[in-house]
Amino acid sequence: MDAEVFRAWIVSAAGVIEANRGHLTQLDAAIGDADHGINLARGFTAVLVALDAPGAKTATPGAILTVTGNTLISKVGGASGPLYGTAFRRAGKALGDAADVDLPALAAALDAALAGVQQLGAAREGDKTMVDALAPATRAFSKTIAEGAAPEDALSVLAEAASAGAAATVSMQALKGRASYLGPRSVGHEDPGAVSTALILGALRDAARAGR
Ligand code: ADP
Ligand code: MG
Repeated sequence: MDAEVFRAWIVSAAGVIEANRGHLTQLDAAIGDADHGINLARGFTAVLVALDAPGAKTATPGAILTVTGNTLISKVGGASGPLYGTAFRRAGKALGDAADVDLPALAAALDAALAGVQQLGAAREGDKTMVDALAPATRAFSKTIAEGAAPEDALSVLAEAASAGAAATVSMQALKGRASYLGPRSVGHEDPGAVSTALILGALRDAARAGR
């Protein structure tokens, strides 16, 4: 996967976040402060501008993810901006200067993203956060690669595990972030950040598929 595919991923992610802006905000209205879709849509709109800015460093997959992360950190308030920003920056750093990214390198980048999110937010699996989508997705992805899966299949597994992880947050009680203030009343709702993570990883699968 080259820079073209990574740019297509981010463009696709921006599109799917914009299309789900209302849905994500509604999810956040149930257990938070009704801004998750607005936050992320604003952030990804700024990312698209940053990627097209004159002189933007976007020649490699890693550079594209670094621009994405830097922009999300500077443009998105709330918990999710720094968390997603860190995730993309760590992934970008893990990819380094490589012009082409294979499945193991992508798996390592996703692991780095997860580690960054957990280092910053201290959430563990089961705490009803984006970690509940990202962690099972990266795990399933690595396992599928180790079994010798084709890229398309591995990326489908990644996206599907993220969606399943997001769905599983419905029955969880939030222990991190704003939703944790609700205590047991946070049970029964899907976590907005887990849902947006699943959307973003679904966009990666779609971009890779289109780029083949
Ligand atoms: P805020 O909660 O500040 O309004 P957003 O609404 O944009 O920010 O994002 C909320 C999402 O951020 C949650 O649904 C959850 O997935 C994620 N989140 C919040 N706190 C943490 C944390 N400590 N670790 C990981 N994810 C978190
Ligand atoms: Mg919010």
